[in-house]
Amino acid sequence: MFLLACLVVFVCLDRGRELIAAQLLGDVPHYAVEDTMFEGMTSNVDAPQQVRAGSFAKSFEAKEVRPSGPDADFVEQNSDAHIALTGHVVAGGETLSSIASMYETTVSSLQELNAIYDPNTLFTGERLIVSPGSSGSGLLKKSIEQIGFVRQTFGTSAGGRPIESFQVSDGELPIILVGAVHGGYEWNTALLAYRILLYLSVYPGLVPSDVTLHIVPIANPDGIFAVTGSTGPFVTADILGDTSDGRMNGNGVDLNRNWGCDWAPYAQWRETIVSGGTRPISEPETRALRSYFNSVDPVVVIWLHSAAGLLVPGGCNGVHHEPSWQAASLYGVEAGYPVGEFTAYPVSGDGANWLAQHKIASFTVELNDHQDLEFERNLDGLLALLTGVESLVDE
Ligand SMILES: [Zn+2]
Repeated sequence: MFLLACLVVFVCLDRGRELIAAQLLGDVPHYAVEDTMFEGMTSNVDAPQQVRAGSFAKSFEAKEVRPSGPDADFVEQNSDAHIALTGHVVAGGETLSSIASMYETTVSSLQELNAIYDPNTLFTGERLIVSPGSSGSGLLKKSIEQIGFVRQTFGTSAGGRPIESFQVSDGELPIILVGAVHGGYEWNTALLAYRILLYLSVYPGLVPSDVTLHIVPIANPDGIFAVTGSTGPFVTADILGDTSDGRMNGNGVDLNRNWGCDWAPYAQWRETIVSGGTRPISEPETRALRSYFNSVDPVVVIWLHSAAGLLVPGGCNGVHHEPSWQAASLYGVEAGYPVGEFTAYPVSGDGANWLAQHKIASFTVELNDHQDLEFERNLDGLLALLTGVESLVDE
């Protein structure tokens, strides 16, 4: 039945407001809800302390760099790993093959660095990362290894795998981007997070100076491992045909049904009943994220999911949370996704709803499918949010 449901409906539907899972199962018991941000928490995060002031001068210039063709000025050298990265904007008529020739690299290297699932999706104007002269496998993993951002392991999954974050820039306004809460089932969200990370490592000037961007590429490493056999960056060739089992963590829990807003032990995923955990925030991944949120004190948290094709602002029990809607709108206008409520079926224990309940702006990005990264539009949306986030704080 599980597999059948996966085949029949080709979307991951994550949202809703009411608790239907419990209705489906009959009586709705009451549970002690562990949903506070700070109570009983012991932070294991060694993140820099952020100071949030009431207002900030807009002193940055978020200049977007769009190089065209090879340019030695954009090559970032790393003497340890010996991988040089540069940017390339796809010109009309170019193919991955012609670009590979131009930089003396390979098509597979280009595909790996940019997580391009289907070479036919390449389009004019697309911003690529290129490693001139490089070939061979493991290029993405090596590139992430040498990345200059502050990298830390802030938690461990149910299966004992590290949960990592990367800190991009060092401004006063923290924003957190979380990928792959639904693990290998939504592997494209992990690769989108990695591609954004790699792109910003080559063009760090794109991040406004008053913002600190934190990226957690894989919030559910057990689920990614189940589908890719990897604990970190992976290539699309590694992905198994059936990714459904990669949705849960090592305890078989749906991590976006484990948060404290409207939590229920039996939750809904399309027509399937899934585990929301033994209690709210019972899972090591959720607990690690909560500690991380508590440490960073973010202005906005963005969750990457697929594939319902819209942005869904957080809001617990149907309560409208204006900052979450504003944050989603900043992102959505540039990214070209509609902003709205998820109405396909009710969802309990959702992360964005829980954050909104705790007065932290949050929204979910639902990509359109389970393969493409939709990198360009999401990079644009993210940069628009980073540039405009000041307006959320001033309110
Ligand atoms: Zn999802």
